[in-house]
Amino acid sequence: MVILRLHRLSLSLALLVLVSCTGQVPEGRFLVVDCDGCQWYRGNTHSHTTESDGDSSPEYVARWYKDHGYDFLILSDHNTLTDPATIDHLNGDGFLLVPGEEVTSSFEEKAVHVNGLNLRELVNPRRDTTLVGTIQANVDAVRESSGVPHINHPNYLWSMSAQDLAQVEDYRLLEIFNGHPSVHNHGGGESPGMEEVWDILLTQGRRIFGIAVDDAHHYQGEFGPERVNPGRGWVVVKAPDLTAAALMEGLEAGRFYASTGVELEDIVVAGSRLEVHIRQKGDFRYTTTFLGSEGRVLGTSHEATAVFQLTGPEPYVRAKVVDSGGRVAWVQPVFTEGS
Ligand SMILES: [Zn+2]
Ligand SMILES: [Zn+2]
Repeated sequence: MVILRLHRLSLSLALLVLVSCTGQVPEGRFLVVDCDGCQWYRGNTHSHTTESDGDSSPEYVARWYKDHGYDFLILSDHNTLTDPATIDHLNGDGFLLVPGEEVTSSFEEKAVHVNGLNLRELVNPRRDTTLVGTIQANVDAVRESSGVPHINHPNYLWSMSAQDLAQVEDYRLLEIFNGHPSVHNHGGGESPGMEEVWDILLTQGRRIFGIAVDDAHHYQGEFGPERVNPGRGWVVVKAPDLTAAALMEGLEAGRFYASTGVELEDIVVAGSRLEVHIRQKGDFRYTTTFLGSEGRVLGTSHEATAVFQLTGPEPYVRAKVVDSGGRVAWVQPVFTEGS
């Protein structure tokens, strides 16, 4: 931490020197969304229990996550608000249950599933005369219950295209990785994968953040790739404390990264510089790719601290770290001043 603080200080000094020498700031500055004194909290926002179609009780599921190093969990049963108060004894010791629900609707043969995080009350699924209208109605229903919506597995049953998602308003979070084996994260045929969909939305100027979730259903028996097990995708949120309000604020501000296994020490944004500090695991090797609008590759790094320096106008820059086992961390897009 001390090293990082010093590092931040030296970055600020370097910027000051640059400004004083040239009389102007470098072209293009990132909008800083940092949070001084904050900590990183790891959590999963999408999991099922026997309150809907999961194979284990809320108590069993919450305990699984608590025992596996998660700081927070949202139980998101289909059209059921599984009240954390019923298993309140699991709260504490650095673990927090946040109320949630998978608001589960449909339009014709398409699935319209929208998670509601930190809901005040049960949200009934809504329907509309169009697909986009149905997605919007359920996003709105979550907002009306003071919840934070995230749109789930758009490629499940090939339900929602980038064009559909571009017409929906008032959401910030989109599942770009879902651990269920039948949701087509990577796309196929002429349908883009979720990362490509994300870049399409970002390129249109939308400020959307990509989340990774388990959507776990199976906690019993042997775990395997065809089963819907926990531990596959999560978010790590930078927040001032482990409270539902702070976590929600961090998520909606994009102050987090999504992961399927790669861990980060920190993400530092200062001036025109974006740094991704990777936590080394064993002898794994890492490749970090910095991406801009339309998914263009802006730079690549193989260092433990990957650094990107803005040199021209880019509306947004995001980073993707892949380890030598194929696990990923997605750093949220950082937007630039004036973009
Ligand atoms: Zn679903
Ligand atoms: Zn689900």
